[in-house]
Amino acid sequence: MITREELRELASFECRDDRELAISFYFHPSTPQDKSHREEVILAKDLVSKTLRELQINDHSRHATEDLERILRLAENLHGNSARAKAVFACGARDVWQVFDLPPVASSSTRLFVNRRFHLRPMAAVFSEYPRIWIALVDRQSARLLEIQFAQIREINEFTAALSRRGRSDGYAGYNAGHAERHSEDEVRRHYQRAAEFLKQAVERHQFEGLVIGCHDVNWPEFESQLHPYVRKRLLGQFPADLRSLTNDEAKTEADRIRREVLQRHHQELIQEALDGARSKGRGVTGLRRVLRAAELGEVECIIMTPEYSARAVECTNCGHVDSHMVSYCPACGRKTRELSDVCESLVPTAIRNNIGLVLVPPQEELDRVGNIAALLRFRSDRNTNELLAAS
Ligand SMILES: [Zn+2]
Repeated sequence: MITREELRELASFECRDDRELAISFYFHPSTPQDKSHREEVILAKDLVSKTLRELQINDHSRHATEDLERILRLAENLHGNSARAKAVFACGARDVWQVFDLPPVASSSTRLFVNRRFHLRPMAAVFSEYPRIWIALVDRQSARLLEIQFAQIREINEFTAALSRRGRSDGYAGYNAGHAERHSEDEVRRHYQRAAEFLKQAVERHQFEGLVIGCHDVNWPEFESQLHPYVRKRLLGQFPADLRSLTNDEAKTEADRIRREVLQRHHQELIQEALDGARSKGRGVTGLRRVLRAAELGEVECIIMTPEYSARAVECTNCGHVDSHMVSYCPACGRKTRELSDVCESLVPTAIRNNIGLVLVPPQEELDRVGNIAALLRFRSDRNTNELLAAS
């Protein structure tokens, strides 16, 4: 899978002239009930062949042709693989060839893009769909910590409470039973504290973004009470678990379910916050024109759009200003603009480079009414003093 650093590098890439072409290829094996995997491969090959013919007719660069032929060979070999989604980014003229595995993402299809920049929207959205999650499996004696990143799961740590001899026995002929019981309660509490401390330190080291806890329902209130407020803020949910029988894969299935539910709710809240913020002139804006302006002012925390959102725009060839009005000259610096068939060609790489979140949400009426794009703001700067506003 791709790292944020690799994604940022791809987002910084731009072709220097017409002889260079940035090719992005997304391969998504379909679910068996839709179509056979074989058909998806044929579709992918058709897509590449068609683009190849178009490019050859247009007498485009030899490098781009070679890139597409290489993608074609890759697509031909994909049917042998166990259906993993893939993304390829290529620009032979600049020696770029990168292949990444993709985790399963909702509503994605096999696509090919040839442009000045790489098509990164599905890649960027992966990061908001798949936060780095830790699973803490905890019972009265032991704890197991797992990390899920994209589709992978790995074990981080495991520890068992060091029970004292008294804690383990009922004492001589039951004489000490009551005392031993209290003692072992202390040990359990210390064990919970140790696990809670481990999680707190992990939050401080930014080791995870979301936490899921697997724990018997009877033990949960006591363990939960030991969690530091930082840790609680990252908690996505808890599920009942028996540590001795639960496999790591079963834990991952539970965590994935909780992640999907929480994210769906969280994304709906983001939309609501952006819409409310826009209405009250607070921390939200809606519509392309205002989203672009807020992004240029560095105000945006997160852009929200539908997966198929697209709009024409222009971008300045000099200062990079992007405008939703199809003007020939840049309102900011006066130089010539270039037409973008889709504003996302420029908006998405900008978002990635500036650490702006990108959340793709299913089409819905409220968002449709404001043009299918909105943004949540970090702050709202004073627009009156801004030169850009005066210029546009
Ligand atoms: Zn300009």
